[in-house]
Amino acid sequence: MATQDFARCPLCAAVVEISNELWRKIWPFGSAFVLCMHCHRQVAIRDAKMMGASFSHWSRQFQTLLAHTVRDLPILPTGDALSALASHLKLDDAKPIAGLQSLLQHACSHYRQVIKEQAQGRQAELEVVVVASHDHTPRCVGIIGRRGAESGDSSGSEMFISRVATEEFMIYTPQTSTGRIIHATRVRPADGGPAMLVAD
Ligand SMILES: [Zn+2]
Repeated sequence: MATQDFARCPLCAAVVEISNELWRKIWPFGSAFVLCMHCHRQVAIRDAKMMGASFSHWSRQFQTLLAHTVRDLPILPTGDALSALASHLKLDDAKPIAGLQSLLQHACSHYRQVIKEQAQGRQAELEVVVVASHDHTPRCVGIIGRRGAESGDSSGSEMFISRVATEEFMIYTPQTSTGRIIHATRVRPADGGPAMLVAD
């Protein structure tokens, strides 16, 4: 059996399987089409290849930044970590997640729509910030995902991550945006790292 190339549907970003054999046959014309098994639309193989590369690029970039930022977090009990945020966050909604890799996968799958739009060249954005207390002590990491204007939903969605042990995290995903970190004043570090937000 031929090995499968990794490509994605340019419309829905689902993985489409293209055998190397087929790819060799149509290259360099790239005019052949393949059926996306997810959205059931015919997509050009060349476009699927480009989408695959673009999606991986944006996904890797987000994961690298998130991994670095989370690794620098102090180990804190969840209550302490999230206390830097709005008091109306319900701690009962925080979920434990073990292992950095699982955390990165969870975040990528949560923000899949934003990554898809980035890969499509839209104005979508995934920002990773450090949320700190008044004395600038990092407490948790915040992610703000904003979809492109075309989506009609560019208000931003937030996720917070705290570190409770070396390789254990708590994630908190408010059902609706708290608006607390989206509108907070940012402190840009000189080294170009993630912005720090000091809680009110
Ligand atoms: Zn599709």
